[in-house]
Amino acid sequence: MTVHSADSASSGELREPEKPVGAIAAAVTTPCRRCGADLTDAPIWQRLRVCPSCRYHGQLSARQRIDILLDTGSFKESHQNLTSVDPLLFSDRVPYSARLEEARETTGLEEAVVVGTGRINARECVIAVFDFKFMGGSMGAVVGEKIALAIEHAIDRHLPFISVSTSGGARMQEGMLSLVQMAKTAAAATRLHAAGLPFISVLTDPTTGGVYASFASRGDVILAEPGALIGFAGPRVIEQLTGRPKPKDAQTAEYLLSNGQIDDVVDRARLRNVLATYLQLLSAPSNLRPRGEHELYRPEPRPPASAWTAVELARHPDRPTTRDYIQAMMPQFVELRGDRTSLDDPAVICGIGDLGGITVMLIGQERGRGEEEHARRNGGRMGAEGYRKAARAMRLAGAWKLPIVTLIDTPGAALDFDSEARGLAPSIAQCLSTMSILPVPIVAAVIGEGGSGGALALGVADRILMLENAIYSVIAPEGAAAILYHDAQRARDLADALKLTAADLKLLGVVDTLVPEPEGGAHLDRDYAALLLKNFVLDALLELRKTSQKRLVDGRYRKFRQMGRQPTTSRRETMAHEMDELQKRLGGALSQVLEYLALRDGSSREPVELAALPPGENRH
Ligand SMILES: [Zn+2]
Repeated sequence: MTVHSADSASSGELREPEKPVGAIAAAVTTPCRRCGADLTDAPIWQRLRVCPSCRYHGQLSARQRIDILLDTGSFKESHQNLTSVDPLLFSDRVPYSARLEEARETTGLEEAVVVGTGRINARECVIAVFDFKFMGGSMGAVVGEKIALAIEHAIDRHLPFISVSTSGGARMQEGMLSLVQMAKTAAAATRLHAAGLPFISVLTDPTTGGVYASFASRGDVILAEPGALIGFAGPRVIEQLTGRPKPKDAQTAEYLLSNGQIDDVVDRARLRNVLATYLQLLSAPSNLRPRGEHELYRPEPRPPASAWTAVELARHPDRPTTRDYIQAMMPQFVELRGDRTSLDDPAVICGIGDLGGITVMLIGQERGRGEEEHARRNGGRMGAEGYRKAARAMRLAGAWKLPIVTLIDTPGAALDFDSEARGLAPSIAQCLSTMSILPVPIVAAVIGEGGSGGALALGVADRILMLENAIYSVIAPEGAAAILYHDAQRARDLADALKLTAADLKLLGVVDTLVPEPEGGAHLDRDYAALLLKNFVLDALLELRKTSQKRLVDGRYRKFRQMGRQPTTSRRETMAHEMDELQKRLGGALSQVLEYLALRDGSSREPVELAALPPGENRH
C-alpha cells in the first residue's frame, strides 16, 4: 500500500455547496491540502474536487467519476453483485472479512471497481472505474475478474474500453490469488488490442503496484491527472531500500510524461472532453467520407529555378512546419506522446486528427520555427526515442485501421553518442520495417528538408508526395562537399549533382507527386500552402481507399523493390514505342487474315471491328 491523500472532503455525494450560516460555517471551512485556499464556496471544488487556486486534484469516488465522465443516465452497471470471499481465511489485526464489510459500508460498493457500459457525447464505451476508499482500490480476485469481464464485453460488443485507475496494488489478504490478477487483466488488455479496439487508460492519484504494472499500463493511450502519484513501488519503500530521498518530482504524472511513459496530463475539467474527442475520432473512421471530394484544387507545380534555390527555400526559417500544417489542416487533433520507455522526443509530433472528414494518424517531424522552439525541437532531428514513438504511432494506426500521413522535414537524425547508445539506428530500422507491413494506406509528404535515413524512416509509403521547393537527399549538400572536396563551401556546386529537387526525384521514380506551393514559396502564405497540401493528401487517400489491405502491402513492397532497378524514363519511353510498333504490326496482320477469310467464304459480313486494339492504331 502506498501513500495516498485521504481526502475526507471528497466522500459522499456531489452536491451544491451549503450556504455558510454564521459561526457554524466558520468551523466547517475546507482548506486546500496543498495551498490552503478556502474551498468551501468554490464551485469547481464542489463539482470536480479541484482547487481553483493551485489545481490540486482531490479524490473522487467511483460514482462521482462516472457522473462527471458519462452522459447523464447512460451508465448501465454490470457484475455489481460479484462479491469477494476470504479464500485464505486471512486475519491480521482485523479479519479480512471484517475489512471487506467495513469497505462496503463506507463506499456503498460491493468491490473496489465499478464496471459497465455508458456513453460519452453519445459514443458508447465500456468503462471500469476504481474507488480508492474501498481497501485502497486494491486488486483482489473479484476486481481482476470484473476488469477481465469488462474487457471481454468490450471485445464482444466491439466497443472502446476506458479504465480510470486509483489503486495501491495487489490485495495481500488474498495472497497469490490476488497477484495473478495482474496476469489475467494484462492478458485481457492484449486481446483487446489484438481485436483493434481502442483502450484509453486514465491514471489518477494514486495508481501504483499491481494495477499500474498490469492492464493500466497497457492502454493504447495513457492519460493522467495533474500531480497524481504514479509508480510501481511506493516512494517510502524505495527510500527505505535505497537510502536516498525521492527526487522532488519523481513518480508524478508530469514526471512520467517527460520520461515518455504516458501520452498526456489532463486537467479533470477537460478529461471528459479529451475522452469524447478520442471516441469521436476513433468511431468507425472508415465510414466517413471527405467533404468536397470533387472540388479538390490541384494546380500545376512550378519547380524552383535551380537546385540551390530549392535548398534555400526548403530551409527558409519561416517555412511552415508540421505544427503549422496540423493547425491549418485539422480541426481536431489529439497528440500521442512518449516512446513508453524513456523520453518524449519533441522533434516528432504524432497523433490522430480529422483530415477532411477522415481520421488519420499523423506523424510529422517538427523543426520548430523561431530560435527557442527550434532549439527545443532539436531542429527536427529525431533521436532513438523519437523513432520509437513514431513506430508506436504506426502500430496503433495499424491496429485501429487508420490511414497514416507522415510529414518529412528534418536535416537528419540526431547525431550524438547518447542517441547512438539508446539505439538510434535500430529504431530507424524499426520504422522502416513497421511501415512496410502495415495494412493501412500510407501517404508521405516531404514538406521541407528530407535528410538521409532519418527522413526516409517516415517515408515508406504507398504514395510519396513532395512540395515543389522541398529537397530530399542521401546527404546534405554541405556534407557531400566536405567529404568529396574537403570543403563545405562547395555545397552549392554539388546541390545540382545530388538530384535532390522534387522534379529530379519525380524523374527518378522516388517521388510520385509534386505538390505546388504558393508563388515564391510556402513561407509566403502558410495557410494556402496547407490547403494545397491537404488537397493532394486527400486525393492520394481517396485513391488508396479502394485498395484491399493485401494489395496495399504487396504494392508497397513492390514499389520499393523496384526502386533503383526500374528502367529510366528514356528506357521506359523506348519500351512504350516498341510496344506500339508491335501492336500495329499484329493488328495489321490480323486484319489481313480476317479480310482474306471473309473473301474466301464469299460472305458479305461487315469488316470485323478490332475493338481490342488501342484507339488510333492503324488497322490495315
Ligand atoms: Zn490549492
